[in-house]
Amino acid sequence: MRTYAREMRKVWEFYQKKKREGAPIRIVEFDEDLEERRNRLCSVWGCDAGQTRAAVSTDGKLYPCARFVSTYPDIDGKYCLGDVWRGWTDLRKRMEFMAGLNKRLKCQKCKLAVFCAGGCPAVNLHTTGNLYEPPPMECHITAVCVALLRRGTKTEKLT
Ligand code: SF4
Repeated sequence: MRTYAREMRKVWEFYQKKKREGAPIRIVEFDEDLEERRNRLCSVWGCDAGQTRAAVSTDGKLYPCARFVSTYPDIDGKYCLGDVWRGWTDLRKRMEFMAGLNKRLKCQKCKLAVFCAGGCPAVNLHTTGNLYEPPPMECHITAVCVALLRRGTKTEKLT
């Protein structure tokens, strides 16, 4: 995790330098400043998986997103939400993707919550077995990005 933070700092510095030089570069994690990130994610939980996004498997089944299509059939099979012939048929399961902070016990106590949407549901499920519980590594990545953006906010805006 320390190595990740150190390497991300190098990427961030490289990005700043290239932006100053006017290079056509885009790194999504650093495209916004801290305030913009807070405005975008404050009170937002989950992503568009299963809400405004669907993935279709080769046999015509509907899943919340591509990460749920057969990566781990025993786990992801439970999140088949319908098929192309009948549409969304499992609305109860689909509602699981619209849950807010009340389901995210770890996030409820997190000081980074205003900068984060609770992790990717598929990554959460595949690592902790729970759609709403992020693995420590995801939270560490968020913490590193927020720390770098905070540092950027103090120095200069990347525009
Ligand atoms: S950093 Fe982790 S615990 Fe904190 S809000 Fe994000 S996903 Fe939840």
